[in-house]
Amino acid sequence: MKTIGVLTSGGDAPGMNAAIRAVVRKAQKLGAEVIGVARGYAGLIQGDFRRLTSSTVADTIHRGGTILLTARSEEFLTEAGRARALENARREGMEGLIVIGGDGSFRGALHLHKKGFPVIGVPATIDNDIPGTDYAIGFDTALNTAVEAINKIRDTATSHERIFIIEVMGRGSGQLALAAGLAGGAESILIPERPIDYDEIVNRLEKGRKRGKLHSIIVVAEGVGSALEVSKEIARRTALESRVTILGHIQRGGNPTAFDRILASRLGARAVELLVSGISGKMVGIRENRIVDVDLEEVLAGKKDIDQEVYELANDLAL
Ligand code: ADP
Repeated sequence: MKTIGVLTSGGDAPGMNAAIRAVVRKAQKLGAEVIGVARGYAGLIQGDFRRLTSSTVADTIHRGGTILLTARSEEFLTEAGRARALENARREGMEGLIVIGGDGSFRGALHLHKKGFPVIGVPATIDNDIPGTDYAIGFDTALNTAVEAINKIRDTATSHERIFIIEVMGRGSGQLALAAGLAGGAESILIPERPIDYDEIVNRLEKGRKRGKLHSIIVVAEGVGSALEVSKEIARRTALESRVTILGHIQRGGNPTAFDRILASRLGARAVELLVSGISGKMVGIRENRIVDVDLEEVLAGKKDIDQEVYELANDLAL
C-alpha cells in the first residue's frame, strides 16, 4: 500500500493530533504517503484532501483538538453519500483509511471495510466507552481536567461548607465520572450503569454532617440526566441546599497528557503497520499495556461495562 488516508471524526479528543502525527511519520518510515481528510466523513464526501508530510505534523504532539478538524456527517449515513466518499478516495489514489474517532465513526468505517475498502480504527473519545480497549485517546486528559476542576471546587466547598454537585461528560457512559469521582474524592458518584439510590446519597450526607463534615462533593455523569435534577431531589428530601457545576466542554480541550500522547503514538503507528500489511476491519487498542487489534464488528457488538471493583472501592473510600 503506497497511499493511505487519515481522518478524525465525531467528537474531538485531546491526543488526536498526536495520533495523526504518528500515522504520518510511521507511514513515511514504511514508504507510504498520507492524505489528510478534513472534517471526517464530510470531507471525504466533499473531496477535501491535503497531503500530510512529516513537517505538516511538526509541533502538533502537544496540541488539543485536531488539525484535520472534525465533523458529523448526515450524508455519510446514506448509501449514496458513502458511495461518493469512496469514489473520491479512490480517485485521489487512497488505498486504505485510518479513522480516528469513537464508535459512531467506527460504524461508518465498517461500511467502507464491507465494501472492500481497507480501514483501521483508532479509538479516540473522552468518554472511554469503546469495548476492546482499556483506554481511548483523550480520556486521561479529560479525567485530569475534571479532577483539577473538582479540586478547585472542593476548596470553595470547604470554605463555605457547601454541597457541590459536579456534572461530568461521558454521554451514556459513566467511565469518566467514576474515575473523576474516585480521584477527586467524591462522596457519591452517580453513573448511568448503576441505579441511583437517593436514600444512600442522603444517608451519606447526613452521616458526614454528624461527623462534623459540612462540605460534600457529588459527581454526576451526564448520562444520568441532569445535575440540577439531582440537586432538586436532594433539596426535596433533606432541605439541604447544593450548588451545581456543569464542567461541559472544558473537558474536551487542552494539551493532551503524556499518557494520551504516548497512547496516541503507539496506536497511530500500529494502525499504519496493520493497514500497510494488508489488514482491514480492525480497531487497534491497548489492553494491559500491550497494543492489540480487535475486529471492528466485535467492538461494535460489545458494550463496555464499568469496573465493579473500582465502583465499590470508590464507594467504600468515600465515607
Ligand atoms: P463518534 O465517532 O464520536 O461516536 P458520531 O456518533 O457522531 O461520533 O459519529 C461520527 C460520524 O460517523 C457520523 O456523523 C456519521 O457520519 C458516521 N456514522 C455514525 N454512525 C454511522 C452508521 N451507523 N453508519 C455510517 N456512518 C455512521
